[in-house]
Amino acid sequence: MTNLYNLSLEELTELLASWDQPAYRARQVWEWLYTHKVSDPDAMSNLPKSLRERLRAETQLGVLEPVTVRHSRDGSTTKALFRLQDGQLIESVLMGYEDGRYTACISTQAGCAMGCVFCATGQMGFARHLSAGEIVEQAVWFARDLQNAGKRLSNIVLMGMGEPLHNYDATLEAIHRLNAPMGWALASAISH
Ligand code: SF4
Repeated sequence: MTNLYNLSLEELTELLASWDQPAYRARQVWEWLYTHKVSDPDAMSNLPKSLRERLRAETQLGVLEPVTVRHSRDGSTTKALFRLQDGQLIESVLMGYEDGRYTACISTQAGCAMGCVFCATGQMGFARHLSAGEIVEQAVWFARDLQNAGKRLSNIVLMGMGEPLHNYDATLEAIHRLNAPMGWALASAISH
C-alpha cells in the first residue's frame, strides 16, 4: 500500500490522475494530510465517497505505530516510541517551552552508523534509513496532537535517532515536504 506521507504533491497528483481524478483533488487530499492532519480518509469530507473508499483500500495515512508515549512530570516534554512496519523502533520527542513554543525532535534513521561514544543510539549501531514519509509523519503526529489541543508546532529539529546527512536524500525530501508550498508548512522553522 502507498503511504500518502511518502508522496510529494506532484506524486499525489500523479496517483490521483491515474485514478481519473482531477488535479484539484490532490490539493484537497494534501490539505487533509497537512493542514487538518486527519488519520482516516472518511474524515476527508469534501471528497466523493468512492474516492475516500479507494484511498482507504489502496493507501495508508501514515505507518507509525505508537508503542509508548511518556510525559515528563511537569508535562513539558513528551517522548514517543514508534514501531515501523518492519519492526524497527524509533524515538521522537516534543518539547514545550514557557513562551508557548513547541519543538519536535524527530529521527531520520533507525539506529545510527556514527558511533558517538556518548550516545545510546550510536552504541546500538545502524539499522536503516527512514523514508521521507517516516520522517515527516513524526512531525505530523505531534502537530496533530497539538492542533487538537488548540496549539501549534513551532519548530522541528532533526536531532533524534540518526545522522540526517547520512540519509541525505530522504531528509531533504522530508524538509521540502514539511516546508510545503501554499502555506501548509507544519512548523515555522526546521533545523539540525
Ligand atoms: S544519533 Fe547523533 S549523537 Fe548519536 S551516534 Fe548518531 S550522530 Fe552521534
